[in-house]
Amino acid sequence: MSESTTLTPGAQAPLDQARIDKDALRRKYREERDKRLRPDGNEQYLRLAGQLAHYLDDPYTPVAPRKPLTDHVTFTFIGGGFAGLMTGARLVEAGVSDVRIIEKGGDFGGTWYWNRYPGAQCDTASLIYMPLLEETGYMPTEKYAHAPEILAHCQRIGRHYGLYDNALFHTEVRDLEWDEDRCIWIVRTNRGDTFTTQFLGMGTGPLHVPKLPGIPGITSFEGHSFHTSRWDYAYTGGDPSGALLDKLADKRVAIIGTGATAVQCVPHLARACKALYVFQRTPSSVDVRANAPIDPEWFAGIASPGWQQRWLENFTENQAGGTAAEDLVQDGWTDLSRRIRSRIMQLPADQRTVPNMLAAYEDSDFEKMEEIRARVDAIVTDRDTAQKLKAWYRQLCKRPCFHDAYLQAFNSPNTHLIDTDGKGVERITPTGVVVAGVEYPVDCIIYASGFEVGTDYTRRTGFDMTGRDGRKLSEYWANGMRTLHGIHVHGFPNAFIVQPTQGANLISNVPHNLTEAGRTIAAVVRHARDAGARAVEVTEQAEADWIALLLTGMGRMIGSPDCTPGYYNNEGQDPGPKARLNVGYPAGATAYFRYIDAWRNAGEFAGLEFR
Ligand code: NDP
Repeated sequence: MSESTTLTPGAQAPLDQARIDKDALRRKYREERDKRLRPDGNEQYLRLAGQLAHYLDDPYTPVAPRKPLTDHVTFTFIGGGFAGLMTGARLVEAGVSDVRIIEKGGDFGGTWYWNRYPGAQCDTASLIYMPLLEETGYMPTEKYAHAPEILAHCQRIGRHYGLYDNALFHTEVRDLEWDEDRCIWIVRTNRGDTFTTQFLGMGTGPLHVPKLPGIPGITSFEGHSFHTSRWDYAYTGGDPSGALLDKLADKRVAIIGTGATAVQCVPHLARACKALYVFQRTPSSVDVRANAPIDPEWFAGIASPGWQQRWLENFTENQAGGTAAEDLVQDGWTDLSRRIRSRIMQLPADQRTVPNMLAAYEDSDFEKMEEIRARVDAIVTDRDTAQKLKAWYRQLCKRPCFHDAYLQAFNSPNTHLIDTDGKGVERITPTGVVVAGVEYPVDCIIYASGFEVGTDYTRRTGFDMTGRDGRKLSEYWANGMRTLHGIHVHGFPNAFIVQPTQGANLISNVPHNLTEAGRTIAAVVRHARDAGARAVEVTEQAEADWIALLLTGMGRMIGSPDCTPGYYNNEGQDPGPKARLNVGYPAGATAYFRYIDAWRNAGEFAGLEFR
């Protein structure tokens, strides 16, 4: 491929489709993928246990001693992030006052409790990402909120709904066991608690178990090191709000990884370190961020009753192939979807066959990625560095990133991109990091190496569940997840799972899934209580029918084996037959949300058995 056919100079300049050599791009994408494929897949990463367990220590809140609990509550929720807060809020609204949230962190917030690295920010617009804004009367300060504001909002929700009263922080569930005679769950934790609960919710999130790259010699490093989700401000100076990391002024720092986390913290490190080495295996695609403060006057104009639900629905409709005339949110996600849709709509109606639509989608993808690569050229002054920062894959192969200071950081003389040409870091020594036989001596290594995704659900939660008739959830799901609506599991009465899969599966705005799940669970629990039922369980038939319906869909929309490896595609390994079930409602997210609303409002809760 010649540089001139694909590397259109000038960021955001309109691209001439005719100048894009599609075959050359397809070839380049395949070559770059093949460089990165490795047989060990998820096994390449290290679990933070044993000698590495200290990487999980909480640097933010000391663990307070407390006595073990042996009482009974109506509802226990595992996970104090958005899922727990939203379900807790809806339960309180539905009149369930004793909701106990169990959280392994020292406060509410989940991912926003742990991820306090400098520059941490949400890539989804705050007006749709931050839950319960209307209920708590809060107006976010920026279009894309920074982490401290989101964490403070989690605490606001906790206070607003009285969820602190019963919460157990720094507590991890070890075991859950259903007692059929008493129709209750027995909960055992790492703090010695053994208490009972009538209902159980689980929202442990998809990205909460940090992992380290399995680089030879990693444990031999004698300098300082930490994972981005446990940022050590005592070592770096500065704070989560972005104050200068002043203790790094005389330090040589390595950051390993260039995913969404690194993209956000590299500019802060570049500002502060004596020397910063960014070790890259695969570049991220980094598009324009264009953050801005929210104007209170403008906000007052949009915030009429029901505004947040309208915004949520509008975003989802713009995202999921809907036909919304208006785009209220106007961000990178809706831009992406609208581009794809507009290209498909350019096809004459009688030519909208599946292959033609996929080709139009690919054209729109090539165009977008060319823009993103041109942006690198326009911003990064060193030609070689610019070339190495270009992402050669289709945009949804990896998490798209948005930032207005990341690429610029590579123009600082103290910031060095160490590209590994897809191979990853070769070795870590007691004093530095080795790539292609060259050692880069450093004082500190920061691992921006992400979180476990492809591992089993029970490994990530840290506990298994024993349901009716002694059946373990790990056994029941041995051939893949089975639920009704992604929430109810046959054989596990009074238990609810809160996550997107097998429901709307809306990945670009996860909180929308959680909002609806919270409403659904509160409605089911309210109904059970009103009906005097001790237990509620999905029937085997209803679960089987739901799974059959899910399998009529197009299958997984992300995770193509053609993509460069990453957690979206099980690190390029065949995920096996189980992955077939990691799908959403076939008619799409908007249709699912309409369906579930009608299912709840009908008041019959079809498919559930109350006894
Ligand atoms: P990722 O898993 O996305 O990135 C890990 C990085 O480590 C990748 O660049 C990976 O390279 C690299 N890596 C792994 N092994 C090696 C190795 N041996 N040598 C060199 N590099 C290596 O983790 P993140 O923490 O960045 O992001 C995780 C997710 O968290 C995101 O995808 C996103 O969903 C979420 N997030 C959301 C944000 C938001 O705005 N809401 C902000 C930040 C994160 P390779 O790509 O080659 O595997």
